[in-house]
Amino acid sequence: MILSVASGKGGTGKTTIAVALASYMSEIQEREIHILDCDVEEPNANFFLKTSISVKENVYVPIPEVNMDRCNGCGKCDQLCEYSAIVMVKKKPMVFPDMCHSCGGCMLICPVEAISEVQKEIGIVEEGYIENLRYVGGRTNISQAISPPLIKAVRKHVVSGDLTIIDAPPGTSCPVIESVIGCDYVLLVTEPTPFGLNDLKLAVDMINKIGLPGGVLINKDGLGNDEVENYCRENGISIVGRIPHDRVVAEHYAVGDIVTYLLANYRNVFDSILDHADLSHLVYGGK
Ligand code: SF4
Ligand code: SF4
Repeated sequence: MILSVASGKGGTGKTTIAVALASYMSEIQEREIHILDCDVEEPNANFFLKTSISVKENVYVPIPEVNMDRCNGCGKCDQLCEYSAIVMVKKKPMVFPDMCHSCGGCMLICPVEAISEVQKEIGIVEEGYIENLRYVGGRTNISQAISPPLIKAVRKHVVSGDLTIIDAPPGTSCPVIESVIGCDYVLLVTEPTPFGLNDLKLAVDMINKIGLPGGVLINKDGLGNDEVENYCRENGISIVGRIPHDRVVAEHYAVGDIVTYLLANYRNVFDSILDHADLSHLVYGGK
């Protein structure tokens, strides 16, 4: 069972909730719980968890390389590539590795087999443990623009049948879809502001289009207005929990012990999330 924690925008407290939920489940369960940080451009789940990393794996993608001795300058590779990752400059193909989606199409279409593949490192996947909580997270190399292959590499660490929390990137673009697709439930973390509502609508639209069940957690409850609440009610979306916008919570954020604070004070919220995601029987029943 995989539960993804996502949000239409950054800064909603998504990672904090993901880490706290995984920590809560690992407290209740004796068997291994996994948390996968798929927010590979800004991974900070382990900032809260502080596992000591025991495994690091470099991740590579294939990128075209042109043998200019063979190339006849026909331009078919340029015409095929939808991402402008290989373009003709003065009748010679030039590759832009950061734009390449590694589809292999240019290699296949080249009539004289002038294109081969070389491996380009795009980032790392690292792994660590705190007792029965296993952390796996990706981290893109600086200037690496395309993150889905690295997210795929992180998701390969899902253990079939085990309980897994995924910390998805913010937004609703390809990396988010790569992170949530195939999950059993998506928890959308939002804040009750006009910006929060706008991005929540996009996120709800995304999970509806993919066909995933989900619910909403309102963080900083009391901060703005009740439009998020009205939107959820009018659209039949469950609000599975709330974390208040108050000074005490902000102080714990500021000193970096927010996860400990949430675990001590908001266990009912985590129980509610597990209930809505239909995970309670697995978490509690497995002890
Ligand atoms: S398709 Fe092959 S031969 Fe044609 S320009 Fe590209 S690399 Fe050169
Ligand atoms: S592998 Fe695909 S994305 Fe990359 S340059 Fe070739 S056609 Fe473009």
